[in-house]
Amino acid sequence: MRFGAGHFPGKGKLQLWVPPVLAALAVVLIVVVQGWALWGRYQAIWQLETNSAENTLRTIAANIERNLDVIGLALERLAAGAVDPSISALPPEIRGKVLFDSSVRASGFGAMLVIDPRGQILADSAADPPRVASLADRDYFKAQLAPDAGLFVSAPFPSRISNGEPSVAISRRLTDADGRFAGVAVATVRVSYFRSLFENLTLRQGHTIVLLNADGTPIYGYPASDNVAADGARRLALRGGLSEAGVWQAEAPGDEGGNRYLLSHRISGYPLVLVMAISSVGALEGWYQQLAVSAAVVLCTLLIVVFTIRTLHLALLRSREMEAMLQRLSLTDALTGLPNRRACDLMLAHEALRAARDKTELSVAMIDIDYFKRVNDRYGHQIGDRVIARVAATIEATARRAGDYAARYGGEEFMLILPSTGADGALFLAERVRRAIEGQDLQAEAPGLSGVTISIGLATRSVDDASTIEDLVQKADRALYNAKSSGRNRVVAASAREEPAAEYRRVSDPA
Ligand code: GH3
Ligand code: MG
Ligand code: MG
Repeated sequence: MRFGAGHFPGKGKLQLWVPPVLAALAVVLIVVVQGWALWGRYQAIWQLETNSAENTLRTIAANIERNLDVIGLALERLAAGAVDPSISALPPEIRGKVLFDSSVRASGFGAMLVIDPRGQILADSAADPPRVASLADRDYFKAQLAPDAGLFVSAPFPSRISNGEPSVAISRRLTDADGRFAGVAVATVRVSYFRSLFENLTLRQGHTIVLLNADGTPIYGYPASDNVAADGARRLALRGGLSEAGVWQAEAPGDEGGNRYLLSHRISGYPLVLVMAISSVGALEGWYQQLAVSAAVVLCTLLIVVFTIRTLHLALLRSREMEAMLQRLSLTDALTGLPNRRACDLMLAHEALRAARDKTELSVAMIDIDYFKRVNDRYGHQIGDRVIARVAATIEATARRAGDYAARYGGEEFMLILPSTGADGALFLAERVRRAIEGQDLQAEAPGLSGVTISIGLATRSVDDASTIEDLVQKADRALYNAKSSGRNRVVAASAREEPAAEYRRVSDPA
């Protein structure tokens, strides 16, 4: 086992998962905030659009009401006069002059008629004498056969008196003194009047305004080409949807992929309803632009965030790798590739603790190359270095059991840490290492140098031994000293009990 970066985790370090999580949070935050703002703007625009449509409808309705009130009043007077026996008794040419109020000043006003109960024209403001024609089949006549029809507004028809121009007829029932049906009073209004009202409006793309009568028949729609909205309004009117007073809205199919919303407004006092169809596409045109800009901004921001976080993440990864590498380097001896003194000290402390915890023996071997000075002196430091590297490789290759740990302790000295190894096992291994070095041919490194030998000092801490790690190393060091002084190229183990007189026993000797 060798110490690596993982064995010394730093405190307060930025965790690798933090940048991606922060990025994800930033992304969610940006999307939520932008989405929220867009939703708010969407609602505001929609509110503004419906308010403005309602205002338009109200203004136009007020104008129509005012105009129709003038005509309604004239009709009322005509209805009263038409059933007045004294006026009926007048000759036809005078009767017309009395009946028809020439002061009616209403926009689009056409003509007025009095029709008898059989449908024959009794008096005509535009023809003197009146035409001979039966109008009994006209909708504005038939509608008044019912006693409580009130005012009726017809579907548009080409008007005779206005050169075939489309007009609508407003009819009123005439009743005699006994309350019986006495015919119909009619006034015509040119459709061009409504056109002049609508054409002044500036409507958004896809918006339409339509005037419908009580049957849901469109009287005038603007723009005239938009039949989809008129049809939608007509269908709603037939279903009774437009019969309620006030303003309401319903969906109608759009012709540009969007939806139409219908806002209706009753014209008070008349069987007429104004409908404005709002196209969601037209209304939200500006909003869609904002949406596109926001989406682009969000996308760019996201890209920047992702790029920044990715760069940060990679930098963090690199710095972690560098850190790990530096830590490895700081614990590794450059010449031999073995763990260095620092790593050896850490490992020794670690193994001492483990041995105490697991109640196992722990042995250490101090190894020193014999007469190495001479190698240096004779072959130079460079060759000396190569010899040290070879010795290191041999020591490491020989002490291979799992847990065995070889380190360069300094100069030409090495240490072997042997966990769970008693004195006998340590002696066996040390002897094998000594012999491996002894038998090593170094001609390749230093021509003329047949080989080098090593001396090894051993110390073992038994299970019940409470001595410190420093004591153990010191004992091994003294054993090494003993091995040197008693001739070198040998292994000496410190005795289990240190007796001053016979402190060391020689346990191996070159053959
Ligand atoms: P002894 O048998 O008593 O150990 O004799 P020795 O000559 O080996 O004596 P000592 O251990 O005191 O001397 C170690 C020598 O090893 C001194 C130094 O020149 C040499 N040495 C230490 N470190 C290095 C190194 O990294 N490279 C080289 N080439 N020589 C080293
Ligand atoms: Mg030495
Ligand atoms: Mg030496």
